[in-house]
Amino acid sequence: MSRVSVASEPRPQAEGELRGILDMLPGLVWSAGADGSIEFLSRRWRDYTGKDEAELVGWAWTTSDVIHPDDLATVVEIWAALRAAGKEGRMEARLRRADGVYRWFQIQAGPVRDDQGEVARWWGLNGDIDDEKQARARVVDERRLLEMIARGEPSSVILEGVVRLVESASSGQRASILLLDEDKLTLRHAAALTLPRSYTEVIDGAAIGPEAFSCGTAAWRRELVVIADIEADPLGAMFRASALAHGLRACWSMPMLSSDGRVLGAFGIYATEPRTPAKADLELLERCSHITSIAIERSQSEEALRRSEAYRVEAERLSGTGSFGCDLLRRDFSMSDGIGEILGLPIHPRPTIEQILSRIHEGDRERVGDLVRQALSDGRTFDYEHRLVMEDGAVKLVRVVGRFRVNAAGHPEIVGAATDITATRRAADELERAQATLTHVARVTTLGELVASIAHEVNQPLAAIVADANAALNWLAADPPDLGRVRESLTAILGDGERAAQVLHRIRSLLSRSPPRHQPCCLNDVIRDVVRLVAPELTRQGIVVQQALLADLPHVLGDPVQLQQVVLNLMLNAAEASKDVPPERRRVVLSTFVTRRSSGAFVHLAVEDAGVGLDAIDSARLFDAFYTTKENGLGMGLPISRSILERHGGTLWARPNEGFGAIFELSIEVPA
Ligand code: ADP
Repeated sequence: MSRVSVASEPRPQAEGELRGILDMLPGLVWSAGADGSIEFLSRRWRDYTGKDEAELVGWAWTTSDVIHPDDLATVVEIWAALRAAGKEGRMEARLRRADGVYRWFQIQAGPVRDDQGEVARWWGLNGDIDDEKQARARVVDERRLLEMIARGEPSSVILEGVVRLVESASSGQRASILLLDEDKLTLRHAAALTLPRSYTEVIDGAAIGPEAFSCGTAAWRRELVVIADIEADPLGAMFRASALAHGLRACWSMPMLSSDGRVLGAFGIYATEPRTPAKADLELLERCSHITSIAIERSQSEEALRRSEAYRVEAERLSGTGSFGCDLLRRDFSMSDGIGEILGLPIHPRPTIEQILSRIHEGDRERVGDLVRQALSDGRTFDYEHRLVMEDGAVKLVRVVGRFRVNAAGHPEIVGAATDITATRRAADELERAQATLTHVARVTTLGELVASIAHEVNQPLAAIVADANAALNWLAADPPDLGRVRESLTAILGDGERAAQVLHRIRSLLSRSPPRHQPCCLNDVIRDVVRLVAPELTRQGIVVQQALLADLPHVLGDPVQLQQVVLNLMLNAAEASKDVPPERRRVVLSTFVTRRSSGAFVHLAVEDAGVGLDAIDSARLFDAFYTTKENGLGMGLPISRSILERHGGTLWARPNEGFGAIFELSIEVPA
């Protein structure tokens, strides 16, 4: 426009045409003289302001209210600067509409020059940028709110910000945010600015439902609900009286949904006259309820995080556990409170690596170092136990498990957890000791039942020895002494002594309290040892002991003394069950065999009898401690036997025998 040259003033007819054209242009057209005084205003200009040309031409506009008083000084200043520079330019200002509303305009002005290049006049065009400017402002506001959410500002502040945004963008509308309660049935007041408290208190706690005003219905139906006239619309019934009493005549609500589709609440807008929302109103509402749901979801997940963090801290404290992580490249070490508890070190400020290492028991330091280095070089998980020494010299045992991985930054990282297992280990040790003592006591008790038989077993060779020694003395006293007979007697004495020693040896080994030691052993040998000890007593009771032992039975890993105890228990139980049955059923049959499964080979021992059987037995409690049907029973034989088997990685079970009696069977896996 600046270089358009006008030859002369427009002729009257042409001027009329020009005015017609100018009046058709969108925007408010004006022109001014070279000195800046307004000469011409288009019809749209006059219609917009509702003022006569006379009220604005010349410099009259500077004293009228057509330009917003806050913008007038700037406009005058820029207008002067443009004229001084003789250049085209633009400025923004609020212009008063006929109804008194100020709207933002962009005012463009450009000079028109004569043939000599002098500014002859100015032409201007004012374009309405109010909607655009407001939209821009809203985007800025929305971005500010999103930034507040990202910064983790309290959700109450953000919700109020959203309400303010809606209310400032739409004159006369009042916003309210309601959140769905944990019960998922009622809405709770969360934010409002211009709605009176006497009204928000009424809608607080409103039930959601298919016809529950606008917010309750929107939350129920998960869709926009519009009540254009609260007085007339049946949907308005629930809060009609209160709404009307507060001058609220229309309302519309949008449900707020989480990213996974849960209803979080409802965003409501009220108007003071019956109406339906304009498209722009709904767009604004949609954006604002979206921002609000982001804020709510964020605060809910933060709350959940806080809660789970609190649970974690409590669980760590209860279990004596702590977690840690270390970015090995940055040497950035982080640890939970639990680690501080275990180490007996404050973790704020964080202890140094040296402080932590100094807690490790000297005797374990090298091993721990090796283990960590090893795991580091293999990039594998690690799991080890070591001792810690506290400030006061107390020793703790910790178990550390962890693994190496590459973190989001691409750095090697170690993550893990440590557990104080001092008390657990102590309890386990005590339990093991108690179990060993109990096992031993049970063995001694069982053996006690054999005392008579054992005494007899030892007595027999002793009597033979005495008889042989007497005989030897007699042969020596003969004249000449019969040395051949003496040798025979002495050889017999030796054999009997050996026999007595063997009996005592077997008893001593069964009575020993040495800790269980697993070694390759043959179940057949274990059985034979026990049979030698028990058979004489059973024979005396008229019970036949039969053995069907598989030749070349594979060895198993086990403690022979403990396995003997099991066999002894099973044999004595079988004998006990056979005591009162007819003589032909009094037998104990021991058989060994091997089974093979996909998981491996197993050695079995079945101890069968044809005694009273298991009919009268509570089979579910057969292996329970202190379960006994005997008058003088302890009820510990079977549970101890089963626990011995379990410690051997084996099993022990019982079933009825065919015909009469019971079969107790055990199996132990053959090592690969
Ligand atoms: P106790 O022999 O001291 O009773 P056990 O634990 O060895 O303790 O056995 C528990 C119970 O199991 C016995 O009281 C008995 O009722 C039953 N029982 C064990 N072995 C047999 C068996 N071979 N036949 C029938 N019942 C048996």
